[in-house]
Amino acid sequence: MWSNTETMNIDGKALSLQLKEEMRSSLSLLEKEYGRKPCLVVIIVGENPASQSYVRGKIKAAAFVGIDSRLIELSATITQDELLHQISLLNEDEGVDGILVQLPLPQHIDELKVIDAIAHEKDVDGFHPLNTANLWLGKDCVFPCTPKGIMCMLQRSGITLDGKVAVVVGRSNIVGKPIAKMLLDANATVIMAHSHTADLSSITRQADVLVVAIGKEKFITADMVKDGAVVVDVGINRNAEGKLCGDVDFDAVSPKASYITPVPGGVGPMTITMLLQNTIECFVARKKRS
Ligand code: NAP
Repeated sequence: MWSNTETMNIDGKALSLQLKEEMRSSLSLLEKEYGRKPCLVVIIVGENPASQSYVRGKIKAAAFVGIDSRLIELSATITQDELLHQISLLNEDEGVDGILVQLPLPQHIDELKVIDAIAHEKDVDGFHPLNTANLWLGKDCVFPCTPKGIMCMLQRSGITLDGKVAVVVGRSNIVGKPIAKMLLDANATVIMAHSHTADLSSITRQADVLVVAIGKEKFITADMVKDGAVVVDVGINRNAEGKLCGDVDFDAVSPKASYITPVPGGVGPMTITMLLQNTIECFVARKKRS
């Protein structure tokens, strides 16, 4: 469908760097205009090594673009009420523009209650129920980072969505559902598939744009993909050798695709970059309101 004869890798790492450079220049102007930098607060509860590594990546990326950040490290034994109190203090803190609570949380804490407690205008992850509702209503909202990053990759690669068939495999609240809505808003005809979808291959083969977010190593094989499709692989899995790989069998699918995102170096870096963009957007929106 797209005229490329060669497959284009959508390089999320390079695009992220470019976007971060753009943010860095716009931030120096914003700082002059509003008298301070945006401030992101990241809360981590407990000592999950993967979460600690994600959080370090977020803090480092914030520093790179010139966003102030604060890391609040809380014990895994903290009570839910204590965590909610901490969040309410940050909600009221005029110097804080974005609040992110790293998930997952220890089992005794209700994640939905915690997300709900974050002021929606500081919800830089875009997970708050009001942001979700506004996304579905087509109103102003903070978009969740991963789907926002995917839309940015498609747009910056010059991929048009109007009238195209988009198939989303996976229906999570953080990826599948919001990306389906965002593709719909871009006038794609959207099909959502999940673990109960009958004859999945016949559905995925209809896709001009195939977005896969299921969490199963190399699940999408070449026979499931239409020639010339744009393939976006959201999955992050570790193979038997401990190497990162996606939900798409990259080597087999790549020759059939017009565009494809690799893992690593595709959607992943864009997610953190969109977190920074959301922080800046929340900062500007609050400053404009005040
Ligand atoms: P999730 O909450 O784990 O849900 C997985 C989804 O995949 C569910 O909707 C499930 O269907 C569907 N699914 C599972 N097996 C399937 C099958 N055999 N056929 C069709 N659908 C199937 O998903 P998630 O949080 O969106 O994460 C998905 C993957 O993306 C993971 O590897 C995660 O690590 C990765 N991820 C990456 C980023 C990033 O920044 N790159 C961000 C978020 C997530 P049911 O609903 O029917 O169970």
